Amino acid sequence: MTGAPSPIAPPMAMLAELTHRCPLSCPYCSNPLELTKRDAELSTEEWCDIFRQAGALGVLHVHLSGGEPASRRDLETLVTAARDAGLYTNLITSGIGLTAARLKKLADRGLDHVQLSIQGTEQESADRFGGYKGGHTRKLEVAQWVAELGLPLTINAVMHRQNIDRLEHTIDTAVALGARRLEVATVQFQGWAAKNRTALLPTRAQVEAATRTVEAARERLAGTLVIDYVPADYYARFPKPCMGGWGKVGLVVTPSGEVKPCHAADIIKTLDFQSVRDAALADIWRESPAFNAFRGIDWMQEPCRTCDRRELDFGGCRCQAMAIAGDAAATDPACEKSPLHARLQDLTQIAEDAPTDFVYRTLNG
Ligand code: SF4
Ligand code: SF4
Repeated sequence: MTGAPSPIAPPMAMLAELTHRCPLSCPYCSNPLELTKRDAELSTEEWCDIFRQAGALGVLHVHLSGGEPASRRDLETLVTAARDAGLYTNLITSGIGLTAARLKKLADRGLDHVQLSIQGTEQESADRFGGYKGGHTRKLEVAQWVAELGLPLTINAVMHRQNIDRLEHTIDTAVALGARRLEVATVQFQGWAAKNRTALLPTRAQVEAATRTVEAARERLAGTLVIDYVPADYYARFPKPCMGGWGKVGLVVTPSGEVKPCHAADIIKTLDFQSVRDAALADIWRESPAFNAFRGIDWMQEPCRTCDRRELDFGGCRCQAMAIAGDAAATDPACEKSPLHARLQDLTQIAEDAPTDFVYRTLNG
């Protein structure tokens, strides 16, 4: 035993939030309330350089996200740069801002995969959830273009109280659209979603029914559709291993160049997230105090410190600990061992007939 710290492995994936601009206004959007305006966004050259740095650092996948990445007119150039850097490129899109010709150009530039969000399964309600008239019809068209180009498709569906009862139809829709993978993510209360908690929070009965629906569909559709399921941790006994562990497998670059271990980490005001405008990506990943703050298990307090699940869930979500315990190093209150578990449970006490109106996401807050 030398006692030397183990070397920090490179991140596998990078979430590149190319812009916060988006034609949709989803009330469950996890983008921050303070959205980055266009004139503060990284330039084309800056993003191309970040992709080169990411490739050199050992990143394998880049998720081109936002906001809506198609709102960037230089998306084609960015896909080329990411592929040239050796990155597997996944476009996470609402579909709005894409045309058949533009999607073909992206495929020609080497785009590897498309992840298309849907807000619901019927036009009227889906357009209401997305705050964009005609959006659902356009998404179905985009899915068709993706299939025609032979690109692998994942459908992304955020489930909340007002659409979770339609999960079975959501699964059928994903199959009908030719998706190979469906991501069913129960709403997490970060960013704009936290502002809409009352209107979005599913009931425990809804969440339990959704879990049964996913389990049955996984069996029925084995070999046809892979279903990734992000269950609601606010009704769980233990938290999720958020981001696969802080600074362990992934990093996020914001539209203005801040590098963070998690897209919601802004809530931790004691951490200073460095920008790619001021430091190299590899140095931020390996050496920045923000990335090292919650790496591994040495930072943990009790009950996590001596818990046998500590290397399974890494104490849960640091941002949720900050939001509810006021201490980012606390045990995630989603854990039943947390002394603040009851406080999280209190937040789930919203009447089933609670108001359903939304505060829609806007760039100007
Ligand atoms: S969640 Fe909705 S508003 Fe937010 S970035 Fe995605 S499509 Fe746009
Ligand atoms: S005490 Fe900590 S490590 Fe143990 S299950 Fe709860 S959050 Fe996970």
